[in-house]
Amino acid sequence: MDVKCLECGEKTIVGSDLIKNLLGGTLVTGAALGWVSYAFAGLLGFYGGAAVIATALLAGGGLVLTGKDLGVVVKIGNKITDILNRRRYACLSCGKVNWSFLGYQKVEIVRGAEHKRELMDAITNSRKELFIASGFLSSNVVTTSFLTSLEECLKKDVSVKLIFSDSNSHSDWMFVGYTQALKELRALNLRYPNLQLIQKNTHQKGLVVDQKYAVVGSFNFLSNQKALRDETSAKVFEEDGIYELRKEFLAVCEPTG
Ligand SMILES: [Zn+2]
Repeated sequence: MDVKCLECGEKTIVGSDLIKNLLGGTLVTGAALGWVSYAFAGLLGFYGGAAVIATALLAGGGLVLTGKDLGVVVKIGNKITDILNRRRYACLSCGKVNWSFLGYQKVEIVRGAEHKRELMDAITNSRKELFIASGFLSSNVVTTSFLTSLEECLKKDVSVKLIFSDSNSHSDWMFVGYTQALKELRALNLRYPNLQLIQKNTHQKGLVVDQKYAVVGSFNFLSNQKALRDETSAKVFEEDGIYELRKEFLAVCEPTG
């Protein structure tokens, strides 16, 4: 798994050997299930599935983490990162001790307010194709400045697909914001045919940028302005993963009549 130094930005890979050294050798002996499961079961309360996730994280990621509850993976990643901080493992670059869990093999974790930066980065940086999927739509996010950035993106001839639920899925208190946002987007759509507004019952939430990376998780990109701390997504750089997500988003695009 990967951690990041919050003081200088240095990224470091954390594997079993490093944790083993930090925890001390005495824990290693007598571990019938492998020292990782043993040490974590004893020290941190990781049993069963959690121990499997911890082991996979320290092995660098891999398939076992695909399909796991991302919130749980992050909790376990945070706990392992805590070991580095509590055992005063100093950053090789700046010498300080202030680590944060970053992610694992070709997957970065996006949390809380970072989602808003990811949305703006996606709109600014996409060159060919951009998908934004969100359970809901709101003028809290579709603001004048959002529309300006989106128009800049459309001017570059990027194919932009916005996927969100229709009016039936928006409750009464959401309705005004939804209607306002939709009106603005439709006006933009008249001038830019490379913008597609796709309304479907969707629970998908994510971004796909130029088949270079994808962000997928709990965050409603087109309605959530608050971005609370417990919102979590995975930013995926792995080609097959991006391809699969893109396909899923396109499947959502199929008209159902
Ligand atoms: Zn540092």
